[in-house]
Amino acid sequence: MCHWCNQHGDRDHKWYDKAENYLFEKIFPDEAAQEEAKDKVKATFAETEWRYSDPEFIRNKEFLQNRAHSGFGSQIITKEEMLRVLRVADEAVKREDSIMVVGHCPCRLVYEGVRDYVCIGFGMPVTLSMEVGYGRLPKDGLTEYGGAEWSQLRRDLRKGVKVPLQLEEAEELVDEWERRGLWHIVMSRGRLPLIEAICNCERRYCTYWMNRFRSGVPEYVLKGHFVARVGPAVCVRCGECWDKCQFGALHYSATSDNVDIDPTFCMGCGLCASACPNDAIEMIPREEIPIAKDLW
Ligand code: SF4
Ligand code: SF4
Repeated sequence: MCHWCNQHGDRDHKWYDKAENYLFEKIFPDEAAQEEAKDKVKATFAETEWRYSDPEFIRNKEFLQNRAHSGFGSQIITKEEMLRVLRVADEAVKREDSIMVVGHCPCRLVYEGVRDYVCIGFGMPVTLSMEVGYGRLPKDGLTEYGGAEWSQLRRDLRKGVKVPLQLEEAEELVDEWERRGLWHIVMSRGRLPLIEAICNCERRYCTYWMNRFRSGVPEYVLKGHFVARVGPAVCVRCGECWDKCQFGALHYSATSDNVDIDPTFCMGCGLCASACPNDAIEMIPREEIPIAKDLW
């Protein structure tokens, strides 16, 4: 079991499969706790975007460790798990009369000035974040709202209009992101165990990846619950998977003329497996791989 499952899962559920972890009012049951959490949401969104460009923020190990120990955390999951996460999130937003929206990647915005809509937020934090001015929708509209300009949207939000991303739209987006070769992360942004977003990213832009691999704070993004394994007898060496791994776990060995996957490097994203036209790559539960079972 990973740290988050030990702390926030239960015997039958991983932390991101547990419905309660998507319910703001379950995790913050009284009014005082809710108000405190809402203030933290506002502070997070007020600080985050500009801080991604601040070297003191993205390379300060102590600061990042403190953040990781105060409710920031995420984990890589496969596309199949991501679709499950979306279904649980959809149930939760309906139950709490909240919303699910697609938003841009704040990391890429800061690094390149590009708004790439590859994140989905849900629940109270995203509702509130839109109200405080962080969330934006794509101009040409991925939602049934029809792609309103943000200024109009903000006016409408004040009047109580909801801007939901439908579950089916979210599922289609996940398929598209998988085809683009983006890995999937499920996350809390300061309120663990409250699960409030998914991100679909890559190594060049992902601040959570950088916080782990460059700044040495692994809790920012834990390895996933699965590890890739190739069946050499089934692999036809077509090369489709060779450029899919962004973690240095998979390579083609000219010596053995086989695809080689190092389970100690595998983050469990599943991108290689879904790229393989021959189903030669299986995703095996991490606990079944002795050398990788305690590597999170
Ligand atoms: S080996 Fe496959 S599943 Fe593992 S990290 Fe690389 S692409 Fe992802
Ligand atoms: S995509 Fe599948 S069949 Fe092709 S090289 Fe990779 S493992 Fe082998």
